[in-house]
Amino acid sequence: MSIRTRLILTFAIGLGLAYGVIVFLVFSSTRESAENSFYALAVSQLERIEERINTFLEPGMMSVRYLANLEIVRNSRGKLTSYLDTTETTTLYYANHPLYERQIYDEFIRVSNSNENYGLVFMANDDGQYAQAPEGHIKLAGYDPRKRSWYIEAANNNREMTVTSPYLTTGGGMVCSIMTKTWDSDGRPLGLLGVDYSLDSLTSDLDKRRILNTGYIVVFDASGHIITDGHHPEYVSMKPDEYPGFRERIAVLPDGAFTDVGERGIQEYIVTRTIDTLGWKLAVIFERSELLESSYKLLRSLLLMSGTVLLAAFMALTLLARSIVRPIEALTETASIISGGEYETSESVRARLYEKLDVTGQGENRKLAQAFRSMLATLQERIETASVANRAKSEFLANMSHEIRTPINATTGMTAIARSSREIERKDYCLEKIEEASAHLLGVINDILDMSKIEAHKFELSSVNFDFEKMVQKVATVVSFKASEKQQRFSIHVDEGIPRLLYGDDQRLAQVIANLLANAVKFTPEGGSIELDACVAQEGNGFFIIRVDVKDSGIGITPEQQSRLFSSFAQADGSTSRKFGGTGLGLAISKNIIEMMGGNIWIDSAPGKGATFSFTVRLEGGSEGQEGKTESSQINSSQINSSEIESFEGYTILLAEDVDINREIVLALLEPTSVAIDCAANGAEAVELFSASPGKYDMIFMDVQMPEMDGYEATQCIRALDAPNAKSVPIVAMTANVFREDVERCHAAGMDDHVGKPLDFGEVLSKMRRYLKYEGA
Ligand code: ADP
Repeated sequence: MSIRTRLILTFAIGLGLAYGVIVFLVFSSTRESAENSFYALAVSQLERIEERINTFLEPGMMSVRYLANLEIVRNSRGKLTSYLDTTETTTLYYANHPLYERQIYDEFIRVSNSNENYGLVFMANDDGQYAQAPEGHIKLAGYDPRKRSWYIEAANNNREMTVTSPYLTTGGGMVCSIMTKTWDSDGRPLGLLGVDYSLDSLTSDLDKRRILNTGYIVVFDASGHIITDGHHPEYVSMKPDEYPGFRERIAVLPDGAFTDVGERGIQEYIVTRTIDTLGWKLAVIFERSELLESSYKLLRSLLLMSGTVLLAAFMALTLLARSIVRPIEALTETASIISGGEYETSESVRARLYEKLDVTGQGENRKLAQAFRSMLATLQERIETASVANRAKSEFLANMSHEIRTPINATTGMTAIARSSREIERKDYCLEKIEEASAHLLGVINDILDMSKIEAHKFELSSVNFDFEKMVQKVATVVSFKASEKQQRFSIHVDEGIPRLLYGDDQRLAQVIANLLANAVKFTPEGGSIELDACVAQEGNGFFIIRVDVKDSGIGITPEQQSRLFSSFAQADGSTSRKFGGTGLGLAISKNIIEMMGGNIWIDSAPGKGATFSFTVRLEGGSEGQEGKTESSQINSSQINSSEIESFEGYTILLAEDVDINREIVLALLEPTSVAIDCAANGAEAVELFSASPGKYDMIFMDVQMPEMDGYEATQCIRALDAPNAKSVPIVAMTANVFREDVERCHAAGMDDHVGKPLDFGEVLSKMRRYLKYEGA
């Protein structure tokens, strides 16, 4: 899954969760507050209903209480001997006091007429007597009130008042009886006294009450009969086993709020309350959806609002993800293109990549893109440098091959001619040419040797007192031959300000001047001119900055070519069809020498306008009588042929070298020193010879690359031998591996020192002097 998809998914999930949590919290808190306010509303309704019922029943109760406390009633001793004031006497006894009967009846009538809700006012004794007013219909003989449900209900009730279960009259009205127990003046029970009370005005009022849109009221009496039902009037006066279970559950659950599924399968929210004095239960019932409607409304607007906000946030985050991910994608693509190698080869790929790394972004993205762009630029530069260097090296190899083959060809050719010729002059001519070719070859090899030393950081300068002008003249003499061959005007001017004697490496200085003059001659056509000017550019406390200009009227060099002339292997014209020979190392070596002498080298030229090579060097003033005395331990190659080679008679050297000719050369060249040399053709032989007579050898020259056992291993074997001298015999590597890491590897293998090939015999001698005679150590 891509980073972009992952980021977007994370945002979506995060926002979704946040959205869910917010909605849940807000919804549940609004639902809770809605429930609370609905509950409060219901409770206040119930309180008002209770009050309404109490106020409604209060007159009935007061009247019954009034009658029960009447003196005449309490003194009747419960003997109601006839239906009061009726002609059709069905009663068995007359009252003790007929006057009371009249008075009681009148009171009953008065009460019955005093309120439109009152029906019969009646009294029943505990011995079965019964009286009522006004007279409605006659009770049959044998009518025993004690068997009637209202009697039983009121007699068994411990409350002061009993409000009986309602019943429907034949006219459809709802009536209940309000009754109380009566006692005579001596405190003995008389029976019950009551009034029939029409509930019609109460129930029609309660039925009509609507609470919000769906709320209605249900009232149960103490025995569970429904007195009023705002939703199902047909349930009125039904007993619990007659109405449906939903109503029954309401009737029996303890007071408080609860929800239940109603008859229509709808969730209802119910709040109930019991009137303690009556045992009546009141219920307010809503559809729950109405309760939640405001919450739903809020939820809907909340969903809409927060949905819009979240959508906007999601879009913003998607854009953010895009802006974060786009550079990463661009970088990933860049990296894969670079690692796939397309970058190096295709210009259009490079341009596209560069475009892709958009630096118009913000903050880190911008920095990242900029960093990547500059990385690409550096990479490009490196690639170009590498390919230029690579090309230069290939050209160098081709030139070198040419430069080496040409004199070898001359040598072999001339050798063949000399062999076949009998004429002595012709043989001499051939030897002369062979000598010339060898000198040229030596020049090439010396350049390579110098360059290898420079690369191995082993290039050193020596210091002698020398005559500056003489040195310049000597170099000029060699070059002037060539110049005169090409009919070039050649002039030299050494300023008088330059002291006669200077102190420094005259040979290296001569090498630079020779190189510049040779180039000037080489790159200037016939009839041109070459001038050398030397002067003091600056003078200080015992030192002189000498400036030399070599000016020619030759082919010149373009600025582009100038920029790479001083790097190794570079030539202005690198093509194989180039007109002039040369290795391309001369100027690089010269630059190195000049810089080691504390100076600079530069060029001033234009194509076709000739060239001026200038350099400065910082040299100390020389002292008289000290000319030519070298202070450096290093002896220059030029001294190979010196007749002053010292004697090493009495010393024995072990030479490990696999190439016959190399052994032969070392033997021949060291012959004048009278040193004794034993030869081994590989490492194993060297170890063998040494272990046979360890004390014999004063020093070992060890080639590195040899068959069977190389020089590193041979050195380690010798060092590991349990023999006197094994640890201390000086072992000097004699190898064509001349780079710093090669030298370090020789030391690591246990060698003491290193001389490079082609051999610098001065160096060989100095090592012998150091390790055999302990000079210059
Ligand atoms: P080489 O001459 O052996 O090739 P150098 O390092 O001495 O090596 O010179 C490098 C290159 O610089 C030459 O091949 C030539 O292209 C250019 N060059 C040097 N000197 C001159 C000069 N005086 N005029 C024109 N080109 C020159």
